[in-house]
Amino acid sequence: MHIQSKLPAVGTTIFAVMSRLASEHNAINLGQGFPDFPMSEELVALVNEAMKNDFNQYPPMPGWMPLREAIAGKAAFLYQARINPDTEITITPGGTYAIYSALTAILQPGDEVVVFEPAYDSYIPNIEINGAKAVTINLVYPDYHIDWTTVQKAVTSKTKAIIVNSPHNPTGSVIREEDIAQLRKITAGTNIFIISDEVYEHLIFDEIPHQSILRYPDLLQRSFVCFSFGKTYNCTGWKLGYCIAPEPLSKEFRKVHQFNCFSCHTPTQVALAKFLHKKEAYLSLSSIMQQKRDYFKKLMEQTRFTMADSYGSYFICGTYERISDEGDKDFAVRLTKEAGVATIPVSVFYQQGKDDKVLRFCFSKKEETLEAAVEKLSRF
Ligand code: PMP
Ligand code: GLN
Repeated sequence: MHIQSKLPAVGTTIFAVMSRLASEHNAINLGQGFPDFPMSEELVALVNEAMKNDFNQYPPMPGWMPLREAIAGKAAFLYQARINPDTEITITPGGTYAIYSALTAILQPGDEVVVFEPAYDSYIPNIEINGAKAVTINLVYPDYHIDWTTVQKAVTSKTKAIIVNSPHNPTGSVIREEDIAQLRKITAGTNIFIISDEVYEHLIFDEIPHQSILRYPDLLQRSFVCFSFGKTYNCTGWKLGYCIAPEPLSKEFRKVHQFNCFSCHTPTQVALAKFLHKKEAYLSLSSIMQQKRDYFKKLMEQTRFTMADSYGSYFICGTYERISDEGDKDFAVRLTKEAGVATIPVSVFYQQGKDDKVLRFCFSKKEETLEAAVEKLSRF
């Protein structure tokens, strides 16, 4: 049978590639972003309890209502947002799915979507599978800020959406208030949608406030704002998230959702509906992860890598230009095989493979994991 590929340029995602290589070579995996420390026992117990209490059948298509109400409460508490849990929140199987569904709900063939690179690797295939085109703009190396003059020039009558991601994967850069002002200026009076990937909302450091689109009603009216419980509660394998969007946008979003997944895992939603009220669980995350960032960055001084700044996310980038002039993919493979530490080469997050000789390291790990990894890296 011959199948005409809808995504001819796409191979296997780098996260699967590097995680497999790490396990084949028994390497420490600082590649794919996931914590290696346990999640909350209390939350696990709540899921168990929900299962025992027979919350095991389909929940409503947009999600378990008490969970949506808890999310609306959290959005009001954190961002002073007034979100209607009935019509504006949809629970999804993860943040990636929320982003895909939002793009699928709005894109027509020939549309253009502005994407900042390096970009999380699902965005461009999500755009292209809908017959639309990604217009890529490089974040400015080495601090990876957005050059809004370039964005303004890239916006045309075909621009259907702009994807923003803060805190940013893979670079750990964050959007500031000035960026919000520019985004507002560029989108005002247009029909441009914003897809805001905020899966790392609670992983932001140095007391920087998270510039959620939920804070800005004028921007929110054109936005799909996507979140992930996996990142908030150290359970990436749960694959549960949600999308907040105004009612007319959520209506279209749900048309895609209802014939794709229909509804998500019930016991987890029942548990999260209770756990979300414990503010300390998500408010403490920044400082826990900031300590890990600081610890890892300090340890890396023992190596010949030069580390960049990271203001959020699970990630920090570093250049190996003092060690080698190889391409980053070759270097990352060699580092996994020879040093026993897996990372992610940042060039894979550029459509054209821009190679600044930078690797992404995931620091959401136990201290002993970080120590063991740096010990290996320092000998390389
Ligand atoms: N966006 C970004 C930038 C991510 O790094 C991730 C992944 N972890 C996601 C979205 C999606 O998260 P999920 O696992 O909930 O699909
Ligand atoms: N978001 C995670 C990362 O960037 C992994 C996502 C995935 O494996 N698809 O590493």
